[in-house]
Amino acid sequence: MDRASVAVVGGSLGGLTAACLLRDDGHDVTVYERSPRPLEQRGAGIGFLEASYRYLVDRAGLALDEVSIATDHIRYLHRDGTVASDGEHRYLFSSWNTVYRRLLDHWGREGYLLDHEMTDFDSDESGATVNFGGRTVDADLLVCADGVGSMARSRLQPTALSTYAGYVAWRGMVPEAQLTPGTAARLGDAITYYVYANSHILVYPIPGLEGSVEPGDRLINFVWYRNYLEGDDLDDVLTDRNGERRDLSMPPGLATDHHVAEVRATAAARLPSVLAELVERTAEPFLQVVYDVEVDRMAFGNICLLGDAAFSVRPHAAAGTAKAADDGWALAEALDAAPDVSSALAAWEPRQLEVGRRLLERTRDIGRRSQVDNTWEAGDPEFIFGLHGPGR
Ligand SMILES: Cc1cc2nc3c(=O)[nH]c(=O)nc-3n(C[C@H](O)[C@H](O)[C@H](O)COP(=O)(O)OP(=O)(O)OC[C@H]3O[C@@H](n4cnc5c(N)ncnc54)[C@H](O)[C@@H]3O)c2cc1C
Repeated sequence: MDRASVAVVGGSLGGLTAACLLRDDGHDVTVYERSPRPLEQRGAGIGFLEASYRYLVDRAGLALDEVSIATDHIRYLHRDGTVASDGEHRYLFSSWNTVYRRLLDHWGREGYLLDHEMTDFDSDESGATVNFGGRTVDADLLVCADGVGSMARSRLQPTALSTYAGYVAWRGMVPEAQLTPGTAARLGDAITYYVYANSHILVYPIPGLEGSVEPGDRLINFVWYRNYLEGDDLDDVLTDRNGERRDLSMPPGLATDHHVAEVRATAAARLPSVLAELVERTAEPFLQVVYDVEVDRMAFGNICLLGDAAFSVRPHAAAGTAKAADDGWALAEALDAAPDVSSALAAWEPRQLEVGRRLLERTRDIGRRSQVDNTWEAGDPEFIFGLHGPGR
């Protein structure tokens, strides 16, 4: 179709990737991000699947080894630290900061409007109108990439199911140089798992806070899934040191001292010592609550939901950013092939719904097996990361 005006709401990885792709195709794109300053997630790791790096490599001209770290082993440990299983498999790991900075550098600062929170929107056959707390913008297409807590989803799909998975991910990372040399060496060439009763932890190397991928400058990142009952138990861990009950995450530095102490003590008591050291040396462990969010529509005339604003899936396939990017690539193709926005979105929706549903199903199953049923065998290939299936 001809040049369309596009408003992308949400300037994180999903929104930025879609914005870059649509601009490349000649559309007139503006990104609106509610945060008053450029986003920062302090470098937490991401599994770097093909869809997650496709734009940076194919369009932004970056080499994979500039932005990610390759590991060649999937290793499981026993409680005493000996190796339970060691399979060869190549993974790439990057960090949220690294990918965001590279995408934003490529996009440029023009047309990336901070401090713009979408407060209302409407649409008719000719396009969409978006309100940012007073300022109103018209666009032919409104792309809502406003994340797991999407206001657009709650308006467009009020019956969408958002279900707490029963557990949270405690996360953190430590510079390699701050670990004992033996620990850094053991954790630097693999993804390392420890699976035990109703819990598992995984550990992998990621770029340093400034993006360096050089050995010695890197961070070792952990994601530790732990069950908390909905109600008092969850409320307590999500109440920050200022007494505020958080919804989706507990940012670094805000977890209460008694929960940080409990996490460190449990690491010492329950994890292999090499993993316990990593948790104990993490200055400010933080957490993300794990939700399943499921929609049955992603296209609404001239408006679409993209990335976590549509489906938000458990992180076990490391595919959240890949799914958001895949939504963007498919959107660009659909707009290219269709005569107008609404027919493009109608053509785009079925495949993206299917990708989201299948990923949700798969990650639910992994979560059930690891956190509830305890049927996760060390080295099981079913658990290999992938957007479309294990290793794909
Ligand atoms: C524990 C954990 C581990 C994970 N590990 C991985 C991994 O290894 N690999 C991976 O690919 N993914 C991983 N993910 C998932 C990944 O973080 C998300 O899938 C991804 O960030 C989704 O991107 P998004 O752009 O759709 O949404 P988000 O990153 O949530 O961005 C939404 C943006 O919209 C903005 N916004 C919200 N509301 C408004 C509004 N009203 N107006 C304007 N702006 C608004 C927000 O400020 C934010 O910038 C993990 C997630 C968790 C919880």
